[in-house]
Amino acid sequence: MRPRPWRSVVVAVLALVAVVAVGGAATGLWGMLSGSEASQFRGLTESVPWDEAISAPTIAPRATPEPTFDLQQHSTSDPASPWVIVNKQHPVAEEYEPTDLVDVDGVRVRAAVEPDLRAMVDAAGAAGARLVVRSGFRSYAEQAAGRAAIEARRGFAHAERYSARPGFSEHQTGLAVDLDSGSEPGCNLQTCFTRTTEGVWLAEHAWEFGFVVRYTEANTAVTGYAPEGWHLRWVGRELTAHLHAEGIGSLEEAFGVVGGPEYVGG
Ligand SMILES: [Zn+2]
Repeated sequence: MRPRPWRSVVVAVLALVAVVAVGGAATGLWGMLSGSEASQFRGLTESVPWDEAISAPTIAPRATPEPTFDLQQHSTSDPASPWVIVNKQHPVAEEYEPTDLVDVDGVRVRAAVEPDLRAMVDAAGAAGARLVVRSGFRSYAEQAAGRAAIEARRGFAHAERYSARPGFSEHQTGLAVDLDSGSEPGCNLQTCFTRTTEGVWLAEHAWEFGFVVRYTEANTAVTGYAPEGWHLRWVGRELTAHLHAEGIGSLEEAFGVVGGPEYVGG
């Protein structure tokens, strides 16, 4: 059979078309793949924050208001409340005694105080501050006896300065503890306690465990008590975080409750 040159031309043209078509499809497919890869990785290579990129066109950025701390959560006058304020203007009823006292290292505190007290003593110890729990709950009768003994030994004026009258001590709530210094026992219950390793640690860290150093140099006029770096009052971590964040130096100031050096009724 005589060869037909036009047929070869047709075959060649068809072959060329096929190559172009397949190549074009392949190129298109590659383009799609690389396109999707490109969009997939765009977020990683560009520095636009994802949240901004998503919300910017529709939602205008606006400042979130600080949530205000609720100071009404607990009573400041009920002696069983974790936030009760006891001072020379606000006594505790003679007959009041907590119903959930537990023993911690030989002293009694309210059950809610125990875990934070143990955690605080442990954390202090890990930091090289040796806290020794000295006293916790004292009944009205025990406070009366202790106060009478101080008065008999040192006189009324001294007792007024360093010991609460019965019914006016935070220790009757079971929410207060006195802590000793394991490193400098000579400063226990003394002004120099605040300069011991333990006193310094407490001033800085007690709030982290729900405690306030109740009577400080700065709040003497408000609380009506001379500084006692060893007297810690538990109010819970939520409140101490608030006091710490706001730089509030006493419970009286936090709640707007009257205190001061004068006893109610004189
Ligand atoms: Zn005390």
